Amino acid sequence: MTSTALPTTDDLRARARTALQHIGVDVPEGGDLQARTPITGENLFGVKAATDADTEEAIAATRAAFLTWRTTPAPRRGELVRRLGELLREHKSDLADLVTIEAGKIRSEALGEIQEMIDICDFAVGLSRQLYGRTIASERPGHRLAETWHPLGVVGVISAFNFPAAVWSWNTAVALVCGDTVVWKPSELTPLISLACDHLLARAADEVGTPRDVHRLLLGGRAVGEKLVDDPRVALVSATGSTRMGREVGPRVAARFGRSLLELGGNNAAIVAPSADLDLAIQGIVFAAAGTAGQRCTTLRRLIVHRDIADTLVERLTAAYRKLPIGSPFEDTTLVGPLISTEAFARMQDALARVQAEGGKILAGGNRRLTEEASTAAYTEPVLVRVDEQTDVVREETFAPILYVLTYDTLDEAIALHNDVPQGLSSSIFTRDQQEAEIFLSAAGSDCGIANVNIGTSGAEIGGAFGGEKDTGGGRESGSDAWKAYMRPATNTINYSGELALAQGVSFL
Ligand code: NAD
Repeated sequence: MTSTALPTTDDLRARARTALQHIGVDVPEGGDLQARTPITGENLFGVKAATDADTEEAIAATRAAFLTWRTTPAPRRGELVRRLGELLREHKSDLADLVTIEAGKIRSEALGEIQEMIDICDFAVGLSRQLYGRTIASERPGHRLAETWHPLGVVGVISAFNFPAAVWSWNTAVALVCGDTVVWKPSELTPLISLACDHLLARAADEVGTPRDVHRLLLGGRAVGEKLVDDPRVALVSATGSTRMGREVGPRVAARFGRSLLELGGNNAAIVAPSADLDLAIQGIVFAAAGTAGQRCTTLRRLIVHRDIADTLVERLTAAYRKLPIGSPFEDTTLVGPLISTEAFARMQDALARVQAEGGKILAGGNRRLTEEASTAAYTEPVLVRVDEQTDVVREETFAPILYVLTYDTLDEAIALHNDVPQGLSSSIFTRDQQEAEIFLSAAGSDCGIANVNIGTSGAEIGGAFGGEKDTGGGRESGSDAWKAYMRPATNTINYSGELALAQGVSFL
């Protein structure tokens, strides 16, 4: 594995300032919340965190804005999102710079994240002329039964560091066309890209003449998120992050009968069958397992390989892993950027120590890199580990590039291993056997929210609903019918018969 040279923190600070200036954001001066870069592991600027009074004011303002936004025609609401999409296109490169600086994504993936935001804006604009209800056959003559979808209220969006901008846009573009208003509490690790997104939405609102208060940004840590979780004016809490966070948020929102949409951790697996096209499988596996330095919720963490091809596949994967270029995410040749923090690296080392104690064998990777250039950053070689069984550590999500390789003999056994983890986000099978593929996609196959064939577990398109089952939280965001989580259905019975007919044949009076 080769390493590429790192920029200095001063370079990155200057680049962040330039990107913010291009976008039109006042460059932050001072404040207790530190914007930081995992590229060098050092601080960039202090930014101002939200106070309790700011939080209260933001919730009150978005609640007040909701009262007019909910009756603004949906296609008109779509105009705001269309303008946001245009501004995202215009500032794509600068926004991607901020994602790279704060989250450490390589340039191509950071540009991909902004493209995903543009895509969801396009989708939401189309949605603004749909939001279909249904007409249902009534059992009574002269009656019509219908379903209408209405806006829900204020949506509290709590997001994670690893998709610092896209997750906001999935929620916000859809919530806004649905007639909701949004308060956003991004990860405390990514304030600069959050300021940029908030600024572009405010600019779009000014340009199309809609109230700015349809959206508010609250920078800060968990305590700010908790205020959204507990406030009855926040109708829906859409929270993306670890399963630990979801376990805290879900019951608290439920206790006040609020709604929550939880997008939590994954422990995604791919089955590689004997008939698989190994060239294609290897490309898919390496991107899904080592891409984003293993820090996607959909990162491939377990590989379940048929015993007959396991040695060949492992040998080829080991060779591919040894060639992965690690280093500055701004270098075109780099494929693996930094982990978010040295704490994340320590958690990875802990998982590797545990799996080795349980009999796992490291086949490639695991060493820390670039420590002399940046001792406070955490660059690591992606790791391949061969394991005989799915022990406790294999069943956990370690948010780092560790790929555990297991073997199987029968497809039933492979599917059983596949599903035998607490999480249920993304999954895939590499096979040229159609029957195997269909079994994997069937009700008796993968238990995940995302199930793919001949493609890895990560890199979903916005057109489908995104989310997963079990400890992944059960929420769905983005495309398909996910918009329904941001609205409330009302059932309408309209009697045009001139007589009162009661349902189920009941007679009264
Ligand atoms: P995290 O759980 O540490 O933090 C996520 C967000 O929740 C942050 O904004 C944080 O401030 C906030 N938060 C934490 N505890 C809270 C609480 N008790 N109440 C209210 N807010 C709280 O996650 P992270 O380290 O930023 O992100 C990585 C995790 O996110 C991984 O587990 C990954 O799988 C998951 N993730 C899931 C998806 C998905 O769509 N399923 C997408 C991206 C990331």
